[in-house]
Amino acid sequence: MTCHIDYQAPADLLAGKIVLVSGASTGIGRSAAMTYARHGATVILLGRSVSRLEVVYDAIEAMGAPQPAIFPLNLESAAAQDHLAVATKLEKEFGRLDGLLHNASILGDRVSVASYDLELWAKVMQVNFTATLGLTQALLPLLGQSGNSSVVFTSSSVGRRGRANWGAYSTSKFATEGLMQILADEHHGSGIRFNSLNPGATRTAMRRAAYPDEDPQVLRTPEEIMPTYLWLMGSESEGVSGEAFDAQPPKT
Ligand code: NDP
Repeated sequence: MTCHIDYQAPADLLAGKIVLVSGASTGIGRSAAMTYARHGATVILLGRSVSRLEVVYDAIEAMGAPQPAIFPLNLESAAAQDHLAVATKLEKEFGRLDGLLHNASILGDRVSVASYDLELWAKVMQVNFTATLGLTQALLPLLGQSGNSSVVFTSSSVGRRGRANWGAYSTSKFATEGLMQILADEHHGSGIRFNSLNPGATRTAMRRAAYPDEDPQVLRTPEEIMPTYLWLMGSESEGVSGEAFDAQPPKT
């Protein structure tokens, strides 16, 4: 897997670009939205809580970055018409989409497959995978309008190698990796690139929920893992598609 943690992005890397970030309210998604905006992008903040997204909106405005937009969407209940409504609104306001970071996810339970509640399993698949699929499908025409767009799927180390007690979350990330590869193959040479990115252990609420006994201070912050997020969204990754990336180097 390739990692670009030392990448130094030019300040205007994403100038004039329209980039949508799902789960932009907190954690890695918030950091990615702020980072993309700082590098010149008009960022579409997508998430389920308008009030939480407004805090990010205000922080982006306060930086003097391009004015962002808030698109409320609960990925757990969203259906095809909701994904299409996002596309229609985007089309009206911006006419195209240059970047799409699928970041929103939920953890589900940390129990064995034998005892995993199937309703919760379905909910994790819905938020982490099915909604990602639906949103991508609806946004493909707008990504095509860009002529040169980047779709980044957020993966995990357990989306590349299964591990006990990671059940639905791990399965959803394997499915995401598969979807990324299929889309990359289907759209080869189209001007839309599709790649996956594993953030690695990062200091967020989700990591805390997964590892409650861990000292968060030993983990990189979302801000520290942004170089690969920038590399994949910017022009340096043009022509790269169907690849799996890591935001942090492997532990030695
Ligand atoms: P957080 O739990 O901190 O943030 C998750 C984001 O997803 C929040 O913005 C949350 O919104 C949003 N979200 C959750 N459910 C929904 C929903 N139904 N509809 C819309 N938005 C929703 O997670 P991280 O920042 O840690 O994780 C970001 C990504 O990185 C995820 O894909 C995760 O799987 C992946 N990852 C993280 C690692 C880590 O160590 N942190 C390691 C490997 C992968 P709200 O504020 O409303 O809850």
